Amino acid sequence: MIALKFVVKKDFVLQDILKSYSHYPPFWKLKKKAWEIDPHFYQILSQNLEALIIEEGLERGVRAGTANVDKNLATLYRTPQFTALFRQAERYGRAVESQWKKNYASSLRHLSDITGIDLSKIDREITIYISHPRLSHGRSYLEEHAITWSHPDEWKNYATVYLWHEIMHHVTVDTRWSPHLMHSLIELACDNELRIRLNGGGAYFKEKGIPMGHRYLVGLNKKLLPDWKKYLRSRDENIYQFEKRMRRKWRGEKLVRMPSALGWWAEWH
Ligand SMILES: [Zn+2]
Repeated sequence: MIALKFVVKKDFVLQDILKSYSHYPPFWKLKKKAWEIDPHFYQILSQNLEALIIEEGLERGVRAGTANVDKNLATLYRTPQFTALFRQAERYGRAVESQWKKNYASSLRHLSDITGIDLSKIDREITIYISHPRLSHGRSYLEEHAITWSHPDEWKNYATVYLWHEIMHHVTVDTRWSPHLMHSLIELACDNELRIRLNGGGAYFKEKGIPMGHRYLVGLNKKLLPDWKKYLRSRDENIYQFEKRMRRKWRGEKLVRMPSALGWWAEWH
């Protein structure tokens, strides 16, 4: 069984909000509160060290910024600004968990059919770190068996579809042939085919007028689409066999133009 453990942790929610660029007023008020407690504390926690470097230099500044972290955190966690946002994060966590549970059986069946892998035979426990629903991110930490997740529900069953996307990174990591090809197939399988089956309609690559997927995979997704549609109809291969065949077919072609290692880190989800 693929068991997800949903956790909403103060540390995670706080840092996710402080490092965000969102203009959502309650986030701004929380930032202001952290700043009032200690500007260095804010700069360290928001990962913005620029002012700190200019004012103090890195070595002294970081030391000053990391002093009293425990005390400052305790103060910040008691503020109404944080308490309200954290309660919303907890509520969002419960909503995502209940959506996941409601959809688990049907989405597992659909995705097993799409991938040709019996996902009910896979035993995996993954911890889902949830933050505030006004923030958007999803990232897989494969070695830690963890996923970070938060996103406004742009369309029906949004969290279910993208949690499966992240889970498929965990499921395929040891058996895939090429990370880019498999990532593209995960987008075709989860973001597109699973979404359409689960929601009883929709089109590939766009939902509610919003284009989907990683920009660097768009070209590859389109290149694979005709074979992918045939693969879905023929049902005589699983996703790994299909991936291997596509790898042979497109051998020698540059499938994606990847950004730098940092770009890969920033884009990975
Ligand atoms: Zn991904």
